[in-house]
Amino acid sequence: MIAAVLLCVLLCGCAAEKQKTCYYMNTVMDLQVWGNDADEAIYRIEQLLEDLEHKWSVTKSDSVTSRLNAGENVALSDEEIAFLAEVQTLSERTDGAFDPKLHALSNVWGFYFGQNQADDFVLPTDEQIAAALTEEKWDFGAAVKGYAGRQAVSILEDLRVQRAVLNLGGNIQTYGEKADGTPWQIGIQDPNGGDYLGVLSVSGTMAVVTSGDYQRYFEVDGNRYHHILDPQTGYPADSRLRSVTVVCADGVTADALSTALFVMGLEQSAEFWRNSSDFEAVFVTDTGEIYATESATLSGCTFEVISSEK
Ligand code: AMP
Ligand code: MG
Repeated sequence: MIAAVLLCVLLCGCAAEKQKTCYYMNTVMDLQVWGNDADEAIYRIEQLLEDLEHKWSVTKSDSVTSRLNAGENVALSDEEIAFLAEVQTLSERTDGAFDPKLHALSNVWGFYFGQNQADDFVLPTDEQIAAALTEEKWDFGAAVKGYAGRQAVSILEDLRVQRAVLNLGGNIQTYGEKADGTPWQIGIQDPNGGDYLGVLSVSGTMAVVTSGDYQRYFEVDGNRYHHILDPQTGYPADSRLRSVTVVCADGVTADALSTALFVMGLEQSAEFWRNSSDFEAVFVTDTGEIYATESATLSGCTFEVISSEK
């Protein structure tokens, strides 16, 4: 009898699925982990999220970001220096469409404090926008959740858990293979709030990151002002896209590129993709059309394929 009970616990332990909903980086997150050390993995991932939020928050006054922005001399660890270098490289790679120094600009638009209600926002004047564009202050908001996904993968690897799906506020990080060997299925959100538009299938450890104009915005006189800003104009990117989803083996790249491609728009993004080899993408336009790059495994919707041939 005792032997039978022990065996049952071990077997259940092997296949254990642990789930936790939590709130970090101003967004709801959902952690699902399968494996013997699932509890420990969730505990460590939460520690990581707390740590990254504390370190890279643009609104907390004692974060590394705020201290750098205040012009303080900050003793950075090698890992922190590497992250700063990495976001700068991604900014160069995207010709500045991803710009990690837009803090002053996001601030004049009120995006740090508003909660999608017009009352919280005031339209900045052209002078305020021009002045904000000259200030180079860090904001890692477009890459830090991807960074969290990447670091979480290291924790999952260390603990050798079986598999995991982490939803870090719309940044999905998968880890390992599904039990039945079929791919993970990730829904592309409808920007108008309806059902999923289509489903992306991905295998193994992958980051699937969406940037969309519906994630944070306000409306004045029927115009939508959203949180993805065009560093060239200082205004919300007017690229005729509603969302961009990037699938990439690396979380930071996926996160930075989803923001950058949203700013670039469809044509420029297609060209950028043709000159790259590390990601696939799905685009939803403001007229509701869906475009997917050649090797994106999208199903459940009608879409145009962006081919590697021009
Ligand atoms: P994401 O949701 O990943 O596309 O990131 C959007 C967030 O990144 C915004 O809330 C801003 O904090 C910041 N941001 C806005 N526009 C840009 C941009 N063009 N490049 C980099 N960060 C940006
Ligand atoms: Mg991003």
